[in-house]
Amino acid sequence: MSDSNEPESGENKSVEKIKAERHKARQQRLKEGVDAKIAKAQEEKGILLVLTGNGKGKSTSGFGTVARAVGHGKKAAIVQFIKGNWECGERTLLEGAGVDFHVMGTGFTWETQDKEKDTAAAVKAWDQAEKLLQDESIDLVMLDELTYMVSYHYLDVERVIKALQNRPKMQHVIVTGRACHRAIIEIADTVSEVQPIKHAFDAGIKAQPGFDY
Ligand code: ATP
Ligand code: MG
Repeated sequence: MSDSNEPESGENKSVEKIKAERHKARQQRLKEGVDAKIAKAQEEKGILLVLTGNGKGKSTSGFGTVARAVGHGKKAAIVQFIKGNWECGERTLLEGAGVDFHVMGTGFTWETQDKEKDTAAAVKAWDQAEKLLQDESIDLVMLDELTYMVSYHYLDVERVIKALQNRPKMQHVIVTGRACHRAIIEIADTVSEVQPIKHAFDAGIKAQPGFDY
């Protein structure tokens, strides 16, 4: 602990004063920079957000943004492009809050390895996504795990790009999944990559309901 009750020497005081003044000047410059950026950022439009990378947190971040939208009274819809073996907790919560939830049907999982059946399931889910992407009344569309449908060639990337580009001007879209196709990254407004620094699974800890799904 420092002896903060002891009187400071004159020299110390002036050093502290100089430091405080420098800090103030730095903060002032920072504030001016931020204020200028805020003043410049005047455009309002629907954002295309891509959440990609190999780390944990992409879908949860997307669902968090949907919750944020709902909290502002906005209308949101979600299409999930992978039907895993488990239910996802967010579905129960968000459906209860009026969010349309569409899950890719016909039992698509990682294990099916039936390209024709999987392609048909992906196309059917995409037809649904396209309807949402043409609906002006929907403020936010989340396309969870869409990236895999493109990387496995179940969906034509040109078709995906076209629908994203032609959506209503104010509609926000969130795309999640690993290894997002560069053509989607190119047309996105915001792209975040979640990096795995550690994952509990690698230490033998199983995925747990209420935390991982
Ligand atoms: P979350 O839904 O938790 O936000 P995510 O969407 O970023 O995860 P996905 O690849 O969709 O990641 O993950 C699906 C499941 O795999 C989740 O249960 C998640 O906890 C788990 N997971 C995510 N990243 C990793 C990883 N690096 N290693 C092992 N399991 C992972
Ligand atoms: Mg996910």
